[in-house]
Amino acid sequence: MSLHQVKYCNKYDLSFLVQSRGNGWADTFHLGNCGFLIDISGLNKISFNSNKTQATIQGGALVQDMINAAFGNNTRFATPTCNCLGYLGAFLGGGITREMGLYGAGVDQIVSVNLVTASGQALQVDQTHNPDLWYAIRGAGANFGIVTSAIIKAYPIPQALNIAWEGAVTFADEKLESLIQAIHDLDLKPHMEIDFLFSTSGPPTYTPMITAIPFFLGNASAAEAAFAPILKVGPTSNGATELPYTEWGAFTASFCEKGERKPVYGVSLARQGLDAEIWRSVYDEYKGFVAAYPEAANSTILAEYYPIQKQVAIGSATSSYPFRDIPVHVAVIPLYANSSLDAAANAYGSRVRDLLRATDGLARNST
Ligand SMILES: Cc1cc2nc3c(=O)[nH]c(=O)nc-3n(C[C@H](O)[C@H](O)[C@H](O)COP(=O)(O)OP(=O)(O)OC[C@H]3O[C@@H](n4cnc5c(N)ncnc54)[C@H](O)[C@@H]3O)c2cc1C
Repeated sequence: MSLHQVKYCNKYDLSFLVQSRGNGWADTFHLGNCGFLIDISGLNKISFNSNKTQATIQGGALVQDMINAAFGNNTRFATPTCNCLGYLGAFLGGGITREMGLYGAGVDQIVSVNLVTASGQALQVDQTHNPDLWYAIRGAGANFGIVTSAIIKAYPIPQALNIAWEGAVTFADEKLESLIQAIHDLDLKPHMEIDFLFSTSGPPTYTPMITAIPFFLGNASAAEAAFAPILKVGPTSNGATELPYTEWGAFTASFCEKGERKPVYGVSLARQGLDAEIWRSVYDEYKGFVAAYPEAANSTILAEYYPIQKQVAIGSATSSYPFRDIPVHVAVIPLYANSSLDAAANAYGSRVRDLLRATDGLARNST
């Protein structure tokens, strides 16, 4: 399908862009006055090999569908946090998943792909076929062609064991420094991950609030022991609970909502970037922004802290993905309806990014 569309666009010298699930954050997707958007969301078939250790997926497969298919087959994929993503849209750029500590990066899950190049060639790409492209697509994939299908690793696990403990654990404002220090000091084992979030309570008061979202692949008692230093900080509420694989993404469903304006500012940090003093300044910036612009009260700042041992051990020589040594990913997400707020939102996002960058602990700018 994509092959014919690419050939047609080449024949008539038309620009084209592939779109899967439409969550791309880049603001450089311009087709000019006349161009083709090649929608691959209908390419969404998923099938497993006999022992459920691999799946063949089409280029537009949706994360939610991958989870449901795997659960039904007593197996599991490395899974991004939000259900609305195109699985390959996420993984061709690197791929951050809840199971990163066990399975490595998203690019490490790809066994082989079928690719249509910009000039309309259909190629098999893997370790032995087109090895240069194989290196390139796993990290910079969206630049090298349309992946029409891929073979992806799967990890057999009975449904009853395919559980995780996660949920919202909220903290009072004055606990922020203790929470950040506890996250910084946490022994982040491969089956753990933790996010923290600045948001507001919603209507009617829109009070700023601090939430941690611990995630543990396993049962509640093991999870509570692993996250004891976080729970010891003294939350105001603890909604973390055991959930089956199919429900892990429900918690982040609001991030998937389309519409409104979201000029996201991303920053990556080393563990040292979990600096209590800086995060107090970031929270002050957040509170200042939502107080000054009540129409942007659903804005958030989300930080995700991952165990990176496995993806580091796999090694950067294996693919073009350059961020294996980075454990913390932050998204500053101003959210509002009216473009008149763009300048203020961009100034705020850029201020927060500069604050975090100043103490990111990284040898190079990884924004
Ligand atoms: C709410 C939200 C949550 C997120 N959570 C995570 C997360 O947990 N982990 C993570 O790694 N990332 C995450 N991201 C980032 C996300 O992975 C990227 O934005 C990704 O590019 C989205 O893919 P898509 O198919 O949904 O979007 P699209 O906009 O359709 O695609 C994004 C880019 O990938 C290209 N592309 C998509 N499919 C193919 C294909 N088959 N072949 C070639 N090129 C293709 C498109 O041309 C485009 O350039 C998140 C983003 C959002 C908005």
